[in-house]
Amino acid sequence: MNGQMKYDYIILGAGVAGLAFAYKVAKEGNSVLILEKEKTIGGLSRTFEYKGFRFDFCAHRFHSGNKDLLEEVKSLVGSSFKKHIKKSRIYMFNRYLKYPFELPNLFRAMGPISSIHASISFGYNSILRKFNKDYLASKEMVSYKDWFLYYFGHKLYTIMCYPYASKIWNCDPSEISADWADQRFQGLKIKEMIKKTFKKIIKLDFSSYSLEDESLAPDGGEFYYGELGAQEIPNAFERALKKYNSEILTETKITKIYEKQLRIDYSYNNKNYSAEAKKAVITTIPLHVYYELIDKKDKNTEKVLKELKYMDIIFIYLFLNKEKISNDHWLYFPDRDIAFNRAVEFKTWSKKMAPEGKTATCLDITCFENDDTWNKTDEQLVKECIDSAEKAKLLKKEEVFDSKVIRVRDAYPFYDLDYEKKLKKIVNFIENSNNIFCLGRTGIFRYNNSDNSIEMGFELAKRLLNKDNRSLLDYTIKKVSY
Ligand SMILES: Cc1cc2nc3c(=O)[nH]c(=O)nc-3n(C[C@H](O)[C@H](O)[C@H](O)COP(=O)(O)OP(=O)(O)OC[C@H]3O[C@@H](n4cnc5c(N)ncnc54)[C@H](O)[C@@H]3O)c2cc1C
Repeated sequence: MNGQMKYDYIILGAGVAGLAFAYKVAKEGNSVLILEKEKTIGGLSRTFEYKGFRFDFCAHRFHSGNKDLLEEVKSLVGSSFKKHIKKSRIYMFNRYLKYPFELPNLFRAMGPISSIHASISFGYNSILRKFNKDYLASKEMVSYKDWFLYYFGHKLYTIMCYPYASKIWNCDPSEISADWADQRFQGLKIKEMIKKTFKKIIKLDFSSYSLEDESLAPDGGEFYYGELGAQEIPNAFERALKKYNSEILTETKITKIYEKQLRIDYSYNNKNYSAEAKKAVITTIPLHVYYELIDKKDKNTEKVLKELKYMDIIFIYLFLNKEKISNDHWLYFPDRDIAFNRAVEFKTWSKKMAPEGKTATCLDITCFENDDTWNKTDEQLVKECIDSAEKAKLLKKEEVFDSKVIRVRDAYPFYDLDYEKKLKKIVNFIENSNNIFCLGRTGIFRYNNSDNSIEMGFELAKRLLNKDNRSLLDYTIKKVSY
């Protein structure tokens, strides 16, 4: 070994959760070492540069119901953090509809018979929910399907929920935990949605929009985005950390974790090192990756780990000889005939993301490592995406002058019906050791946004600074950002 160093805290992974934790403890006089395997910090919230373009992993809007956190991140990032009003639409029935859905707009596309059917099942459901306590008690909210049927009724389930959820998750919504919907859609205001619907009906506003439309109705959600991409948040934490006793090493390879000694062996710049934590090791890396690196093993944990799945994702970036595609931040594609789930055009987010006269779009496909989709060649994926994008009137083949494909493992914690039980077993096994803590979207398997990962990082720092060694397992985010 080429050196033996001691730090108060060693953090595995330089995503926003690890950086946020490091920032808070370093500020209080603790020394920190952050070990990151990639070339750049930021994890899932990072931005790439390519031939004059900048792009993220799909979209990364920053917003938070936690006001203090929002203000703190805003002040760390500084003046390049710009406010936007979210605009997005969904491609259904061969046209673009407002998203989140506005029922008049959706009903117009569905046609009168389906609309009447949907209204009856929605209305019936709402009445049962309001007036029939037995109905409430009889509803066991286990799966995402249960959750959606409970709020919206059967017809809207088949139109709004089933196609997109089954396409993204590659399974039936009855196999996905209702927790996912709770985390994803907290704050959904059904009463307001109904009020808005009636107002629109009175004004006879059943409109849908073409891609060129400037007058898109925003859904009201504000968010922030750095002029140079999502990377501005991790970079802001890195800047702040420089003032304190901290070290961030990228392109490191962790070779062994000795839990009892809180010791990490790693290689960096072709040399081997060993570092010891005086207070704690914080892991934000995937649970199965962490397990592979530790010195103690347990057959039962291994079995459960195999059953707790992360979903992987492929990003297909298309570069276009065209100033702009649309004014949307997102476009959603639930239809299975379209190869990808979403399209994000970074120029809508910030002009600095693409050169003048050109634009780029990021299309994403969710899958599992080594399934048929994952194993397609880049050329196959690009061709399928261009064909689909042309079908959805997003672009013309001849406008595409370059492409890039990036595969990312462990992007989505996959909430199957008993994920929580499995997660508890694994985290208890890891944290049962001496001062090791799991943190973040990837590290503690929490389907969340970047603000939630930051909040968890802040919370863990607060606890450890106060000598409170509780796990984050049962920590619920104060205000979910959706
Ligand atoms: C497609 C997509 C869209 C999203 N959209 C939004 C959005 O609009 N708004 C929003 O707020 N959030 C969004 N998110 C969520 C957001 O990206 C995450 O919540 C956040 O970035 C997670 O940060 P983290 O630090 O918890 O985890 P990660 O970013 O996963 O950090 C873990 C870090 O550990 C590193 N690592 C892994 N293995 C090792 C190893 N062996 N050794 C060392 N380091 C290792 C990784 O490289 C990474 O840097 C989106 C996520 C995805 C996938």
